Amino acid sequence: MVQKGPRPLVLCGPSGSGKSTLLKRLLKEFPDKFGFSVSHTTRSPRPGEKDGVHYHFTNKDDMLAAIEKGEFIETATFSGNMYGTSKQAVEHVRLTGRICVLDIEMEGVKQVKKTDLDPLLVFVMPPSIEELERRLRARNTEQEDALKKRLDTARREIEFGEQPGNFHIIILNDNLDKAYSDLCEFISKNVPEKMEEPNNSNEN
Ligand code: 5GP
Repeated sequence: MVQKGPRPLVLCGPSGSGKSTLLKRLLKEFPDKFGFSVSHTTRSPRPGEKDGVHYHFTNKDDMLAAIEKGEFIETATFSGNMYGTSKQAVEHVRLTGRICVLDIEMEGVKQVKKTDLDPLLVFVMPPSIEELERRLRARNTEQEDALKKRLDTARREIEFGEQPGNFHIIILNDNLDKAYSDLCEFISKNVPEKMEEPNNSNEN
């Protein structure tokens, strides 16, 4: 089981919404306060991505076996690839006494909401689907069909993000600095200033 620590922070938003950029900035600015939950994925690494840092890169058979063994908190298939947050990934951050930050898509959010992790849920909204498409094309990491899949998923994710009650805050990312300061403001209102020592007992 996953032991309870401080409330994790979940960032969700369509591919290309800028959530990873916001996350990177947060982790860089507050390395002692936040720790990234390194997910598993069956997709291939992009240039520059390191195994164990950006993702644990795995294959479908190993991932299915690990899911079968109950090693994951949540899993989802996104654009034909599997993704998941292992219990170990979250535990690893908790043991460092940092707040665990998850970058996950909406099916994962639905599952995490059912656990007792009680996460703070942030949705990063792109200014428009057109702008999202422009960003994804500029990023140039996907083939045309994969890009179309991501845009279809983005439409569904935006609908989910907009539904009242699904997230604690929706951050519009039409300007990165403004979006980042909105995120920091949300965090300062909702995350305790002083962190407790990590509790390693089972009783909290
Ligand atoms: P990408 O392939 O662009 O790195 O990620 C694709 C999508 O998968 C993004 O929306 C990202 O947030 C999501 N994702 C990454 N890791 C996980 C995970 O562990 N679980 C879930 N449910 N989604 C994830």
